[in-house]
Amino acid sequence: MFRALLTVALSGVLPLSGAVLKIAVLHPLLGDLVRQVGGTQVEAIDLIGPKGDPHHFEPKPEDLKKAEGATIYLVAGMGLEGYLPKLKSVIAGKATLVDVGATLPTLPGKDDDDDHSHSIDPHWWHSIDRFRRATGIVAEALASASPENAELFRKNAEIYRTELDDLERWTRREISKIPRDRRHLATAHAAFNYFCKDFGFTPHPVQGLNLEQMPDPKELGALVKDLKENHIAAIFPEKESNPKILMTLTNDTGIRLGEPLIADGTGGVGYLEMFRHNVAAIVKGLSEHQ
Ligand SMILES: [Zn+2]
Repeated sequence: MFRALLTVALSGVLPLSGAVLKIAVLHPLLGDLVRQVGGTQVEAIDLIGPKGDPHHFEPKPEDLKKAEGATIYLVAGMGLEGYLPKLKSVIAGKATLVDVGATLPTLPGKDDDDDHSHSIDPHWWHSIDRFRRATGIVAEALASASPENAELFRKNAEIYRTELDDLERWTRREISKIPRDRRHLATAHAAFNYFCKDFGFTPHPVQGLNLEQMPDPKELGALVKDLKENHIAAIFPEKESNPKILMTLTNDTGIRLGEPLIADGTGGVGYLEMFRHNVAAIVKGLSEHQ
């Protein structure tokens, strides 16, 4: 009894037995990455969870309690987490915050504000190249927190990078099945710019950088014209959201609805699985003859 109580009491502050580091992650795909690199030496606490929305998540006191004892907080960065300054002050002196996206090459977000602010597109995980770089960043963060395991973390990172290399080769092979003039990716929110840039697609997002940004009637008209002019084969909804507007668009244009893509890395899938799912759906939607 006493032992059980002790375990419960300690489980909030110490990593599970065997793990050397407790890491809090603010993006589900970083949870997958830190497990790949840290193996049994890390306990990753995914604060957003499989059903969360990384665009609107903000850690509540109970989330921070779950993360108590974490030595590192991993965030995706590039402006995704608006609460970072607050989080930094809460964990100051107790844990290190590692902004994984901070040194990765960025793509601009849509300049959709009147204040002329040029936002950054935060969806860098759809670039395998950036995820490969992130693997090294996470390995070094773990290595400085636990130098005695540094070699192991670097070795795990190297192995995982070869899996990402394989994924990239497979992706290029799959995409080669889509005729060049059909490499147009129409999606719900603007989450796939990094994918499009890396793999030679033209993005046609219906919404803005997050799910609330709906086109006004004028934008919608321009969008329908754009979709028709480019002979878009399919519009892809998301596993996370399938706004009614996509139905309206497919009804109005006769363009078919593709299989849902995983846009924000949620849904409880790992990185490799997410990427394979998306590529398979895109190839299926765009390469078939209609
Ligand atoms: Zn998104």
